[in-house]
Amino acid sequence: EHVVNRIAAGEVIQRPVSALKEMVENSLDAGANQIVVTVKDGGNKLLQIQDNGHGIAREDLGLLCERHATSKLRSFEDLEGIGTLGFRGEALASISFVAHMAVTTMQHDAVHGLSASYRDGIMDPGGPNPCAAVPGTTITVEDLFYNVLTRKKALKNGAEEYSRILDLVSRYAVFKAGTGFTVKRQGEARADLHTLPTASRLDNIRAIYGPSVANNLLPLKHKTGDMDPAVASSTFSADSATFTAEGYISNASHQGKRSNFILFINGRAVDCSPLKRAIDALYATILPKAAKPFVFLDLKMPGSHVDVNMHPTKKEVGFLHQEDVVDSLRAAVESQLLASNN
Ligand code: ADP
Ligand code: MG
Repeated sequence: EHVVNRIAAGEVIQRPVSALKEMVENSLDAGANQIVVTVKDGGNKLLQIQDNGHGIAREDLGLLCERHATSKLRSFEDLEGIGTLGFRGEALASISFVAHMAVTTMQHDAVHGLSASYRDGIMDPGGPNPCAAVPGTTITVEDLFYNVLTRKKALKNGAEEYSRILDLVSRYAVFKAGTGFTVKRQGEARADLHTLPTASRLDNIRAIYGPSVANNLLPLKHKTGDMDPAVASSTFSADSATFTAEGYISNASHQGKRSNFILFINGRAVDCSPLKRAIDALYATILPKAAKPFVFLDLKMPGSHVDVNMHPTKKEVGFLHQEDVVDSLRAAVESQLLASNN
């Protein structure tokens, strides 16, 4: 039975960065405004995330890694109006099947912290144990895929995995301005990525992607349909495209050497190849010299229009009226580029 679970877990958690993405989203769901990621060998040996979120109650620790038991998805109807990033309740369970996992947590009104470790979905006997702690949660994942040799072999070297981790946290740092992010290698005093909770999205683009990117950006704001985030998702008709877009796009003078396409839909970092292709093609026709655009888009659409990523590895997102949404966004980017070009 454990072998089957392990294979399934290896599908959910494919590499260090997929585990980290789930843990970052859990920290954000917990209301953290400081997140520190510590890594050894690109996360292959050690992946630790410390947050100052609301912590985990003692009674929840026993079931933390039980599949679906602690899911934020309490009922099927919740699917429609999903407010938090997590809803599958299988990320930590999966991690515990393919790595050594330990948790230290302290709720803000508690007098001491609690620690527990997990294996194959189950808390180690005797836990949780009282310990000294600061408010928030630290999750430590060691020796990823120690028991899944096929996965372990498929992993890239630490440098490659680390660059994926830096890329992911960079995206969240821009999207979640208001939360400070730090990424560092274990034993190094200096962080490789560091943002402050007081910084804006633009500050973070400047700090992470450099002034040549930040100095050549145009703001983008766009709206189609009567999207109102305050309105329950189920009240939206499925008949037409409904979304808001907010972000930054590189202008005509931008001479980026690398293209960056950063997309969030309803708070989750996702890929959307048709949208990326459309925007790339647009930049290539309008600005042949700036063929490597920087694009950051924060899209919100009714939860009922999005194919809720039931599977964490399904980074490629699907949504209703995809062609209309892509066309409408391409047009918005085009008019902003043309306006600034004249
Ligand atoms: P999901 O996020 O889908 O509920 P996860 O396996 O990702 O499932 O997490 C299980 C549960 O553990 C979460 O619902 C949450 O209650 C708790 N949890 C995980 N990480 C944290 C954290 N950093 N702070 C507070 N609670 C957490
Ligand atoms: Mg989660």
